[in-house]
Amino acid sequence: MSGRVANILFLAGFVVYCAIRGVFQKRVAGSEKIARRRDRTGTLLLFTVFVGNMLLAMVYILPPGLAFADYRLPRWGPWVGVVVMILALWLFWRSHADLGRNWSITLEIRRDHELIKSGVYRLVRHPMYASIFLFGLAQGLMLSNWLAGWAAVATFAVMYFVRTPREERMMVENFGEGYREYMEETGRLWPKVGRRRQKSEVKM
Ligand code: SAH
Repeated sequence: MSGRVANILFLAGFVVYCAIRGVFQKRVAGSEKIARRRDRTGTLLLFTVFVGNMLLAMVYILPPGLAFADYRLPRWGPWVGVVVMILALWLFWRSHADLGRNWSITLEIRRDHELIKSGVYRLVRHPMYASIFLFGLAQGLMLSNWLAGWAAVATFAVMYFVRTPREERMMVENFGEGYREYMEETGRLWPKVGRRRQKSEVKM
């Protein structure tokens, strides 16, 4: 696949990514929040992810861009990227759909917030974050550039490692034992197969 085609496909995927966000953002607008962790760290993390996910990719695609940081991938690289991107978009869409009106861009608990444990939340606690990592991996495989390609994974990793413990603390504060049990049964980004089986064996 030529670099130009890979860039165009990446842009198309990126438009779909933004469209999914846009649709669900509209659906949850206006619902009342009863707990919120919107502070300077949260805002800084969102800005960092914006630079890594979007800004650098756009600077790269618009010439002369970031040509100094280009690299060459094997021919199969961008194709694998397309497959990973499709998977990422599917998971991004499903996690928004399953979380429904409980979704928010910052850490918030809404009035009537429901703890979701079904759909893609059945096996992992953070499928949406997993989908963003996958999208970043696709970005690295499709944009042959160290900065535009890999900044997304790097900046999102910072956000993930700072935000996830705070998010889980907030969920425990609001859902108590219910969320603790859910943590026992699930993995963060990847299913906890062994432990789940052990638990059901104990119950039997
Ligand atoms: N970390 C999750 C959700 C990201 S959206 C994921 O990666 O899929 C962030 C918001 O989702 C948080 O403000 C929190 O209120 C809400 N949230 C996270 N996990 C949830 C769950 N299992 N059920 C309901 N709401 C959840």
